[in-house]
Amino acid sequence: MTEPPRGEHTRAVTPPAPPSPTQTPMSGPVWRTAAWAFRSAGEYAAVLGGDAPGYSYSRLDNPTVDALATAVAALEDAEAGQAFASGMAAISTTLLALAGSGDHVVAPREIYGGTYALLTGVLPRFGISTTFVDTRDPASVAAAVQPGRTTVVWAETLANPTMTVADLPALAAVAHDAGALLVVDSTFASPVVCRPLAHGADLVVHSATKYLAGHSDVTAGVTVGGASLLERVRRLRHNLGGSLSPDDAWLVQRGLLTLPLRVERANAGATALAAVLSAHPAVERVDHPSLPGSPDHALAQRLFAPGLYGAVVTVTPRGGRDAGLAFCDALRLAEVATSLGGVRTKVSHVATTTHRQLDEGALAAAGIGAAAVRVSVGIEDVADLVADCLQALEVAAGRAG
Ligand code: PLP
Repeated sequence: MTEPPRGEHTRAVTPPAPPSPTQTPMSGPVWRTAAWAFRSAGEYAAVLGGDAPGYSYSRLDNPTVDALATAVAALEDAEAGQAFASGMAAISTTLLALAGSGDHVVAPREIYGGTYALLTGVLPRFGISTTFVDTRDPASVAAAVQPGRTTVVWAETLANPTMTVADLPALAAVAHDAGALLVVDSTFASPVVCRPLAHGADLVVHSATKYLAGHSDVTAGVTVGGASLLERVRRLRHNLGGSLSPDDAWLVQRGLLTLPLRVERANAGATALAAVLSAHPAVERVDHPSLPGSPDHALAQRLFAPGLYGAVVTVTPRGGRDAGLAFCDALRLAEVATSLGGVRTKVSHVATTTHRQLDEGALAAAGIGAAAVRVSVGIEDVADLVADCLQALEVAAGRAG
C-alpha cells in the first residue's frame, strides 16, 4: 500500500536516513543523540534489561563515550574504563561504588582539594569516614587501615604542588593486606609517565580535563581498571548521572592522539626548567622529582617511564609571598590561569589559589613556601619558557629587594 504524502512538519522531523558508510572513517563519529530507536518493542525491552547488546539512552551508555573510555583503558593497560562529565564525577562515583555506610577510606594529607572536600564534607553524610595520613610513610598507612572497614586506600601518583611521588607498590601491599583496594588519581602523571595498575593499583582515575584532553577546552573524567569493578562503577554512574557528553568525549579522544607527544615534550621542558631554576640565586627552592636532590628522585625512576618525572614544577622565589605574586605577574609567556596539563604553560601562586584555605603554619607543615608558584609546563620552546621565567625572577627579586 502506498503511503499518503506526509506534511511538512512530519517530513522535517523524519529526514531520510543516510546510507551507512562502508569505508572506515579516519576519525570516529560523534553519536550526538540522547536516545536510540529500536526495531521492535521486544528489542527495546531486551536492550534495556541487559539481555541484548545495544544502546538505549546516552546517560546510560553512548558509543562515542565508550570509545573514549576504551581508549584510555588501553593506554593504562586496563581491562575496562568508564568516562564521566568531570574528574570529580569520576572520583565521586568511584568512591561511592566502593564505599558505603560504615566503611572507611585512607587518603593522603597532600590531596587534591576537590577530593578532600568530598571526603570531609560529603561522604561523612553517607556514613563513610576518612583518615588522612602521610602516604610517604607506608607504616602510617598501615596504622590507619581498619581491616574489615577500610575499603579504599586513595593515592595520587604525583601530589599537588610538591610533586611528591606515591610509593604505589608499598601502598598496594598495605591496602591488599587489609582487604582494601588501592585507587590512584593519576591526573598529574598521565599513562605516559606512569601506569599505576602495573604497580599494584586496582583502579586509576583521571581528570581528563588535564593531560588526556590537553587543550584546556573540555572537562571530563575517566576511571579504568578490572572489568568487574568497572561494572560496579558503571551502574552507579547510571544512577548518579555524571555521564560525559559525546561531543566532549570526542574532543578528549582527539587529545589522546597526541598524548605521548605532548606529555613527553612538556616533561622534557619541566625537567630543563627545574634544573635552571634550582641553580638560580633568586630561587629558594624547586620541587620536581627530576632533581637529583629530590627525596622522590629514586622512586620516580623506579615507577615512571625512563626520563619522565611529570610536567609540573613548583618554584619558590626568595622574598616571601609578595615575591611569588610578583613573579606570576611579571611572566609574559606563561599564563596566570586555573588548571594544568594544557599545551600552554600556566602558573598559579599556590598560597592564594589552590591552597588558599591553608594559613602560613599549615602551608609550612605541608612543605609549601608562601612564595611557591606552581608551573604547569606546556609544549612551547623551552628556551622561551626559561627566558620568561628568568626575566620574571629578576622583576620579583627587584620588588622583594
Ligand atoms: N584530581 C586532580 C589531581 C586534579 O588536579 C583535579 C582538578 O584540578 C581533579 C582531580 C578534578 O578534576 P575536574 O576539575 O575535571 O573535575
